[in-house]
Amino acid sequence: MTRRILILGGTGEAVALAERLHSTPGIDVVSSLAGRTRAPNRPQGDMRVGGFGGAEGLARYLREARIDAVIDATHPFAARISTHAATACDTTAIPYLLLLRPPWIRQTGDRWAEVDDVSAAADALAATAKRALVTVGRQELHAFARLRHIHLVVRLVEPPSEPLPLADCELIVGRGPFSVADERQLLTKHRIDTVVSKNSGGESTRAKIVAARELGLAVVMVRRPAKRAGAVFGSVEDALKWVSATLA
Ligand code: NAP
Repeated sequence: MTRRILILGGTGEAVALAERLHSTPGIDVVSSLAGRTRAPNRPQGDMRVGGFGGAEGLARYLREARIDAVIDATHPFAARISTHAATACDTTAIPYLLLLRPPWIRQTGDRWAEVDDVSAAADALAATAKRALVTVGRQELHAFARLRHIHLVVRLVEPPSEPLPLADCELIVGRGPFSVADERQLLTKHRIDTVVSKNSGGESTRAKIVAARELGLAVVMVRRPAKRAGAVFGSVEDALKWVSATLA
């Protein structure tokens, strides 16, 4: 009997997981993306794009699409979809796994100021920075609009469809993985004194944190929002083991 798995995506892990499950006999995989990125990395297997309409809409989708298990491989900062997914799986009694990569841990030599959200990151910058690399994504950039005397180098995965809402800024478009050597060069070339980052964890964007440490630069690190505990695994391999055990 073929079993159908929904992967909630938007991360490299989701793409890797879809590839592995797509080549597993007896499993159909459908990946779901929010639709924020115009040219996302396309996962193997079926794909759907766009919100479900909250937890209720997702529960309806799970029933209609005859989903047997949900793997939530969304980004550590995508908290709403994870809450909805956990609730929808409770309602429908469908197994739910949260695949959450471990956060980066502060190491000797790191000059981190940890803050709770992007708005607090802007406050922290206002107090100390002159030239900052901002890598928090597009959606919350408005928090930096009031920093009129700080030069902001903003890195996004795609060119924005509208001008950035910032006074003194420069745009860089780039998608990880990045190397430490390239990140060092970027930070040096732009004379950056502070890096602003979400604590996304993972390898793809870790290099900027290593480069900042090596160059002795400050980092304003945004802590993760809480995601619901339950079945939580940190790696694609562990998620695959969960699938075998759950759908056996
Ligand atoms: P969010 O705040 O948790 O979700 C907002 C709404 O977007 C959800 O309620 C849901 O709409 C829809 N949504 C989110 N992820 C979805 C998915 N995989 N499939 C279908 N609908 C989805 O999420 P976000 O922070 O805006 O992130 C959106 C997407 O970008 C996520 O898939 C995430 O993995 C990816 N991403 C986020 C970040 C980040 O820093 N937040 C970074 C990299 C990638 P409905 O309620 O209508 O279902």
